[in-house]
Amino acid sequence: NKQVILKDYVSGFPKETDMYVTTSSIELKVPKGSNGVLLKNLYLSCDPYMRPRMTKGEGSYIESFKPGLPIVGNGVAKVLDSENPEFKKGDLVWGMTGWEEYSLATAPRLFKIQHTDMPLSYYTGILGMPGMTAYAGFFEVCSPKQGEYVFVSAASGAVGQLVGQFAKLVGCYVVGSAGSKDKVDLLKNKFGFDEAFNYKEEPDLDAALKRYFPEGIGIYFENVGGKMLDAVLLNMRIQGRIALCGMISQYNNDKPEGVHNLTCLISKRIRMEGFLVPDYFHLYPKFLEMMIPRIKEGKIVYVEDKAEGLESAPAALVGLFSGRNVGKQVVEVATE
Ligand code: NDP
Repeated sequence: NKQVILKDYVSGFPKETDMYVTTSSIELKVPKGSNGVLLKNLYLSCDPYMRPRMTKGEGSYIESFKPGLPIVGNGVAKVLDSENPEFKKGDLVWGMTGWEEYSLATAPRLFKIQHTDMPLSYYTGILGMPGMTAYAGFFEVCSPKQGEYVFVSAASGAVGQLVGQFAKLVGCYVVGSAGSKDKVDLLKNKFGFDEAFNYKEEPDLDAALKRYFPEGIGIYFENVGGKMLDAVLLNMRIQGRIALCGMISQYNNDKPEGVHNLTCLISKRIRMEGFLVPDYFHLYPKFLEMMIPRIKEGKIVYVEDKAEGLESAPAALVGLFSGRNVGKQVVEVATE
């Protein structure tokens, strides 16, 4: 059983060498009466929240990985054996699994995949946790209305590309920021953003936002934090909403950068709300009902960045923090 192991706790930017690939043996059977399932992992998801899990945990909402053990994350898998009444051999599932070829899940946290006619890798992204994040964050937290002015950061990524498309479905004006010319082109030409800019080429983010939002931002979907959040605060409209989804620019800092413009929240009566997607998983059936027909009709499009083989997983994960991924980063371990 090939596995990706965390070598030791990480500080600063993660490196490929913070993980290593090894092989161990596993019995391809679930112990009788254990309630567990044996999974053959097909696709593994690389997600930014995995970086805080590589640090010894204090005060985080999710526990740290254990050095010497496989990385844990979302994935798509096939059930090879089951002692759990909810799953049977041959089921396709998505949810928490290990970064390894086969995983024994003793307390499975898995969704059964009903729509197996969709590409299975989609359940690490557009039809899985990041898709639900975009859906819950935009529709539930931001309460968007037609004609509103929406700004999305890390806009070409797994979550951002969907938030932009949801905003267009509602009839909003939407601008995205991303870290390369190719990503900016994707935003405008593939995902239908009205405008997009490369934040790395903007010496003055405040001036850039004023250019795209002369009348201010109504809704900000926050994926990056730091200097971008500070510039956005200066440009929000009265009674605007900010959904705090993530702050990837801060995940490698020992101490997060300060935010200076919080008084704008008061003067402009802005609602800023953090959220975590597991709190919204009860909406998953409703979410699928909206997504599946629209994907089939081409009304919602998707870009994923597929790395091949378990060996490529450490580089793929680390690449999230330099923006190497174009679209949702997934690792293909096996096709079935
Ligand atoms: P992405 O697919 O967007 O990948 C990460 C991207 O972040 C990179 O490609 C890069 O794009 C950008 N990035 C990396 N470092 C920086 C930096 N220092 N400053 C600005 N941008 C940077 O990831 P996801 O779509 O999966 O996640 C997006 C955000 O959503 C993250 O903050 C994540 O933590 C959060 N999230 C929150 C959830 C919740 O429940 N609240 C659930 C899931 C995700 P670029 O080239 O454009 O810089």
